[in-house]
Amino acid sequence: MRADLTHVNRTRLAVVAGIVLLAAAEAGLHLGGATMLRIYSVCMMVLTAGGAAWHAGYAWRRRGRVPRVWWLTAAGLACWACGEWTVGVPTLLTGTAGVHSNLADITNFCALALAVIAMVSVPTAPRTAAGKARMTLDGLVAVSAFFGIAWLLILGPLTRVTGDSVGAMVDLAYPLGAIAVLSTGFTVLAGQPVRRGNALTVMSGGVVVLTATLLVEVAAWAADNGDWYEPWTRGGYVLAVALLAVAPLLPLPEHTEAVARAEATATSGSALPYLPVAGLVAVVAHTATRGRLDPEVVIAAVVMLFGVLGRQFLALRSNAALARDLDRERARFAHDAVHDPLTGLPNRAGLQAALDTAGPGATLLLVDLDGFKAVNDTRGHAAGDELLRETARRLRAATVPLGDGATPARLGGDEFAVLISSAGSGTALARDILARFSAPVRLTDGHVELRASIGVAGARSGGDGETLLRDADAALYQAKELDKGGYRIFDDELAARLQQRRMLEEDLRAAVPGGQLRLVYQPIVDLAAGGTVGAEALVRWQHPRLGLVAPDQFLPAARAAGLLPAVDRWVLAEAVTALAAHRAVEPDHHVHVNVSAEYLAAGTLAADVRRELTAAGLPADALVIEVTETALVDNLDAAARSLGELRRLGVRVALDDFGVGYSSLSYLRRLPVDIIKIDRSFVRDLDGVDGSAVLVEAIVGLAHGLGLTCVAEGVEDEGQAARLRALHCGQAQGYLFARPQPSMPRSSLRV
Ligand code: C2E
Ligand code: CA
Ligand code: CA
Repeated sequence: MRADLTHVNRTRLAVVAGIVLLAAAEAGLHLGGATMLRIYSVCMMVLTAGGAAWHAGYAWRRRGRVPRVWWLTAAGLACWACGEWTVGVPTLLTGTAGVHSNLADITNFCALALAVIAMVSVPTAPRTAAGKARMTLDGLVAVSAFFGIAWLLILGPLTRVTGDSVGAMVDLAYPLGAIAVLSTGFTVLAGQPVRRGNALTVMSGGVVVLTATLLVEVAAWAADNGDWYEPWTRGGYVLAVALLAVAPLLPLPEHTEAVARAEATATSGSALPYLPVAGLVAVVAHTATRGRLDPEVVIAAVVMLFGVLGRQFLALRSNAALARDLDRERARFAHDAVHDPLTGLPNRAGLQAALDTAGPGATLLLVDLDGFKAVNDTRGHAAGDELLRETARRLRAATVPLGDGATPARLGGDEFAVLISSAGSGTALARDILARFSAPVRLTDGHVELRASIGVAGARSGGDGETLLRDADAALYQAKELDKGGYRIFDDELAARLQQRRMLEEDLRAAVPGGQLRLVYQPIVDLAAGGTVGAEALVRWQHPRLGLVAPDQFLPAARAAGLLPAVDRWVLAEAVTALAAHRAVEPDHHVHVNVSAEYLAAGTLAADVRRELTAAGLPADALVIEVTETALVDNLDAAARSLGELRRLGVRVALDDFGVGYSSLSYLRRLPVDIIKIDRSFVRDLDGVDGSAVLVEAIVGLAHGLGLTCVAEGVEDEGQAARLRALHCGQAQGYLFARPQPSMPRSSLRV
């Protein structure tokens, strides 16, 4: 910030100093006299020769990195220096203005030519076709305008004065050359960022001053009215050479910057190209009042007019192109806002828009891929994306027969939807989609089976977008629950069930604080020694109207309402309190408490357990916490942390329903488990031929090998009990011994 300020200040200071110096020089030139003339000559000789040397040195020092611009300007300045020296040396010696030699004329022309070449050779990034055309037209306007002005003021009078001699040719060549250079300088300047100085701006500025001065000088000479102009033209030459000489102080414009700014100035309508136009108009107006205009001037004016018109036309065209681009961009934004980039299908917002205008006969299908997560996890995201694109393709194909009447969409993740606007059967489409999905999908690295569940909501939902979404979602949930890979329609039965579920949720909120929950205890017996070792606490809901509700009926509702942790917390407190009371009679008994995934995820389990045990005055080994595999899958790390904390407290952990999940064995390895509870489905089929007996034997062996306690669940008859005993399963639970009962069981229960 500070550096910037000082830089700006220094630049300003240099500019002000330069202006003061030039003003002083100009004043000096007006004083006239031999001394002033000598000073002027020295000034010009030093500035031109010094400038040439500096430019050449600059180009030499930065050779390889600097474009040949600096060599050209150095050569131009050197030519100019030749002219100045041939005239300047005699001036110094005699004190009167030296005579212009032929050599000076030649070198001066060379200087002008080199200036033009230097300016146009400054490298700029490739311009657009429109940019090039604009530049050309600017040049045309400048040339014709300057020519018109010059004809009226200089060339016209000059031809009348000098006639046809060689000297006259040379005299005419000066202003003509000057016009060419002036026009080039002007065109370059017009395409340049004038506000921020760069070498090109300063150089073209110098060239413009130089040639303008030259033209003024010739005009005044042709008009032949004294030498009043000499101090002014000399001042002009000094300014011009000074500007040219200092150019290397500033950087050449950066390619990209040059183009960006040139385009910006050109399109934002820089006024500079119109300056010569205004000049010609003024001069023509001035002259026309006093007589006829030469045809040369008329032609120049017409050419200039065409140039201006062309430029205007270009501006209009580029404006139209800009407007078109803008429209296209807007359309793209609008499209992207309602479409999924991966599949190109409408996204959730797109579907919402379609739902908003859906008629009363509309049907909505929600399609959810089964097992997509597994593909994503095992085969990588690229494969997942491929699968989603293929899903979209098949979905589109399925809706083709419905034409505009169907809108397939991707709602996010592996969730898709199809909205059928009116006529068209949701059931038929669901079947068609499932049929199309049944063909395996070929991915880059092999095949996968694509399976989906579909929920359909139709006329029953009344065509209201929100209701359609909600009902289709409920149907989808059912479809996933009952048989994956199928479809389910939101019908009266589902509606009734949903209604009941909602009421249940409503009532449940009052159940925990209202003291409507009860605990029953199912004894756990020692199979070998006989007798009860403890009990599992199982929750019941004493509903005010419905009576006693089983956990299978209300726990899903509690889960949906987010009430599971509260229920589990209540059960924990109640069971621990009951055990503490019971321990007065049966000091070694322990109690099993079930905890849900939600309670585990809440992260307060260990703290709650410690608090309850302390409050009840129980040792930690009096409590067993039961978890199922489903409670672990979603957040294994968090679960492992919670269970580890419990372990450290001394509380035991049981893996419930062992064997029904996919990964019971891997959990055994990764979790701190003390007890395995063999699922009752194995126990039920213990006498069958499906290999349950072998499995139970293996599980018992595994438990023994790992030093874990084994509890068999759902023992209903003596035969099962005998088999389990023979397999050396330590403990058991089941209707054979006792059903869940309202109070803690006594050991008097004999096996
Ligand atoms: P679970 O943890 O496997 O509990 C054992 C279930 O098997 C109990 O059903 C019990 O009554 C039943 N059962 C016991 N012996 C037999 C038998 O010999 N034959 C048959 N057919 N069934 C038997 P319940 O009480 O209906 O509990 C169902 C499930 O609800 C439990 O399964 C458990 O997952 C869950 N649950 C119960 N109480 C709670 C609780 O307080 N918190 C949590 N998070 N879940 C609980
Ligand atoms: Ca259990
Ligand atoms: Ca169980």
